[in-house]
Amino acid sequence: MNAVVPIHALDTGCGDAPVLRERGQREVFCGLTGIIWLHRKIQDAFFLVVGSRTCAHLIQSAAGVMIFAEPRFATAIIDERDLAGLADCNDELDRVVTRLLQRRPDIRLLFLVGSCPSEVIKLDLSRAAQRLSARFNPGVRVLNYSGSGIETTFTQGEDACLASLVPSLPPSAATAPPELMVVGALADVVEDQFARLFGQLGIGPVRFFPPRRATDLPPVGPNTRFLLAQPFLADTALALEARGARRLAAPFPLGVEGTTAWLQAAASAFGVSARTLAEVTAPARERAQAALARQREQLSGKTVFFFPDSQLEIPLARFLSREVGMSLAEVGTPYLHRSHMAAELALLPSGTFLSEGQDVERQLDRCRAAEPDIVICGLGLANPLEAEGLTTKWAIELVFTPIQGYEQAADLAELFARPLVRRARLSPGASRPEVLACS
Ligand code: SF4
Repeated sequence: MNAVVPIHALDTGCGDAPVLRERGQREVFCGLTGIIWLHRKIQDAFFLVVGSRTCAHLIQSAAGVMIFAEPRFATAIIDERDLAGLADCNDELDRVVTRLLQRRPDIRLLFLVGSCPSEVIKLDLSRAAQRLSARFNPGVRVLNYSGSGIETTFTQGEDACLASLVPSLPPSAATAPPELMVVGALADVVEDQFARLFGQLGIGPVRFFPPRRATDLPPVGPNTRFLLAQPFLADTALALEARGARRLAAPFPLGVEGTTAWLQAAASAFGVSARTLAEVTAPARERAQAALARQREQLSGKTVFFFPDSQLEIPLARFLSREVGMSLAEVGTPYLHRSHMAAELALLPSGTFLSEGQDVERQLDRCRAAEPDIVICGLGLANPLEAEGLTTKWAIELVFTPIQGYEQAADLAELFARPLVRRARLSPGASRPEVLACS
């Protein structure tokens, strides 16, 4: 059995490191994008975007058009109207929702998702949600949140969605024993792996939020201890804390080290000994370490540059620097939540260049000057950078792919190795790379 090696900060880490704050032009997707993974997660929910044709195009091209399945998202297109036309608009929305719910009796939770066109901003969607909820209660709950792209980044869509759901969580009994809640949408396969590990550790009951079915909302109260599975859930965490729940501080479950530390936070809170944690996690840690070793050969010594996009940048940078030996040229993040990121920042190599927000032209200049081996960025920047000869990885892919936990640690590293291998293969006169664990 392998002992769980306590993780140590490198020197002093980046806990107090200076951060370059930029507030210029940004290149990010809007929060509507979250619907793509949320509609797969909550299987009896429907996401009705109230927006423009642009929103409809975005959501349809990003999520793909399902031909054989009934989709669980759609756009109600609001054309340009003055304020006097808003009464009709509300009537129209009610008609659309009524038709939808008659046609789709499987829907238990309907989200009205706001967007940023001015016609939509004028509409009071929270009042519409209350009105429709009262009409369709108890069969269907209608909630609203904003997926607007104004001053947000795409992962905030999930945060806004979950935060809107928190008031609907049932209260837990005042005398209930402590319960663990894992917060943040995870792929079902990852959720099942974590549920098994928590079960073997004797921690339970464990609830996942969001649940797979809207009828299975987890209770919340002062007995709730929650672990964030995603680093972009600031508003959801606040809403849970307002209901009495307590966040367990931990790094995020990326890589072997991050996953162990994340589980360790739960183990400590639920009185599980270090020995039990080591015994339970040993087989998975050993498998993950062996699989990671192959990727490390590809990645060690390579330099990575993160543009701000998914809010996963700091945990990913920690994983890449500590577990596969990459150097960090710059770690950009759209927002830096100091307390949610405290455990991660402490593990980054001291002296890491951190930036928050974006002034895209200046950041592009810094990126070109750094000449990184790989750049993690949004889709809008990837093609131009590839054309300049840089190797890129789309940040959004890291949100769609199961990357959390031990079994996915090597897959996560491979996501960074694959573009490097491809570039090496395509480079004229380049020798063929030796380790090609990826197809
Ligand atoms: S919400 Fe705003 S940014 Fe997003 S697709 Fe619609 S118009 Fe564009």
